[in-house]
Amino acid sequence: MKPKNLLSPVLSLLFPPRCPFCRRVLPVGEMICEACSEKLPQVTYRKYTVGYYPCCAPLPYRDAYAAAVKRFKFSRKCTYAQPLGLLVIAAAKRAYHDLSRFDCVTCVPMHKTTMRRRRFNQAELLARECAALAGLPYRDTLIKLRQNVPQHTLKRDQRAENVRGVFAVSDPSLVRGKRVLLIDDIITTGNTLGECAHMLHDSGCREVCCAVVCATRS
Ligand SMILES: [Zn+2]
Repeated sequence: MKPKNLLSPVLSLLFPPRCPFCRRVLPVGEMICEACSEKLPQVTYRKYTVGYYPCCAPLPYRDAYAAAVKRFKFSRKCTYAQPLGLLVIAAAKRAYHDLSRFDCVTCVPMHKTTMRRRRFNQAELLARECAALAGLPYRDTLIKLRQNVPQHTLKRDQRAENVRGVFAVSDPSLVRGKRVLLIDDIITTGNTLGECAHMLHDSGCREVCCAVVCATRS
């Protein structure tokens, strides 16, 4: 066996964490490299409304930020959950101030068929990381009842209809009277998040606030 082959299992075990945006190897203890940290948007978050509910996003969906979210989602870069979660929680703290008032963190669910194919829900991974960073419990609260056409394939005026009746609260007794922080990776029109927030509110949630990594709208 050549030295390179002898080393490869060790190297794979010790595969160093990389910056989610430029993919450079990170110094120990860093989650985003210094150069990318310095380039982060000056505006620490943007605030949107999804239905009747607020949503905040630290990053625009473009360039290295969009690429990082795509790798996180489609290439299963699970290690990105922590740096991206850190940015989401920093934005949520600024947008919603005291996060300790929330009873739990939850996420936009994936249909079981998609979950079987993809093997992980990036929104859940992100929400679990956000919960840990905020010192809050993570709870599965929503289920996706049926597969719908991907939102990005539809015109804007078709998107609200496409998500109607797709989500449900799994156990209303778990969310009744609670304040919930709802997490997803991206906000585009906000129809998906708005529908999920609406279902939580309909089940008796006292407050629903949303937070995502990237927003496609400014
Ligand atoms: Zn970087």
